[in-house]
Amino acid sequence: GADDGTVEVRDLVVRYGPATALDQVSLTVGPAEMVALIGPNGAGKSTVVNTLSGVLKPSAGTVAVRGRLAHVPEGRQVFGDLTVEDNLRLGGRRYKLRDTGPVHAILPRLAELRHRRAGTLSGGEQQMVAVGRALMSRPDVLAVDELSLGLAPLVVADLVRHLRELNETRGLAVLLIEQNARLALDLCSRAYVLEAGRIVAEGPSEELAADDRVSAAYLGGV
Ligand code: ATP
Repeated sequence: GADDGTVEVRDLVVRYGPATALDQVSLTVGPAEMVALIGPNGAGKSTVVNTLSGVLKPSAGTVAVRGRLAHVPEGRQVFGDLTVEDNLRLGGRRYKLRDTGPVHAILPRLAELRHRRAGTLSGGEQQMVAVGRALMSRPDVLAVDELSLGLAPLVVADLVRHLRELNETRGLAVLLIEQNARLALDLCSRAYVLEAGRIVAEGPSEELAADDRVSAAYLGGV
């Protein structure tokens, strides 16, 4: 039930000075569940993830993560002057995990690219580095912020295939933050819609996709 989620956010309020970015947001991600958080630009999606990862402090409410959370940040944020291998190692540093072999096994392309400087890679390859770097800490839950942004559909499909596989074979829980609602609802079994800092709709992805208002606002028509 909702009480044994891997991620549990309850009545979360986050303020930036006088501005309220999140107002009483509650959401859960269960063990091995894939959940989407969709909503327009500026709705507060990144604020949710940044609070989960401890970068921001709640003004009120609680966030709880059972197990280890890793974050694939918006805009990838790889270190362009470092090699792919060194970027990966940074992801494990906090836990003294240096062996990149397990990540190479999941994302073989990163083994081929390991000596390349990350700044010379394509956007899709950089996103793969960002995912691989997050996996280095052997997370129980992965928060992915804007996986698809700026990437070609085929590249996105490849990344999605990897996420699905990680979820199915390793039980990795995923919170997918996406402006691309169709992608998010296709991939995830449940979703939350965030608008102006509030959850305005939630439920199984199929139900949300069939909801006239959600469909009109996020899926380009009824
Ligand atoms: P985007 O997809 O554009 O990143 P988002 O849904 O992730 O949008 P947030 O980045 O979480 O939205 O921003 C939520 C609100 O908080 C916005 O109104 C934004 O302008 C504001 N905000 C974000 N960061 C700060 C900050 N450091 N200081 C003040 N206001 C901020």
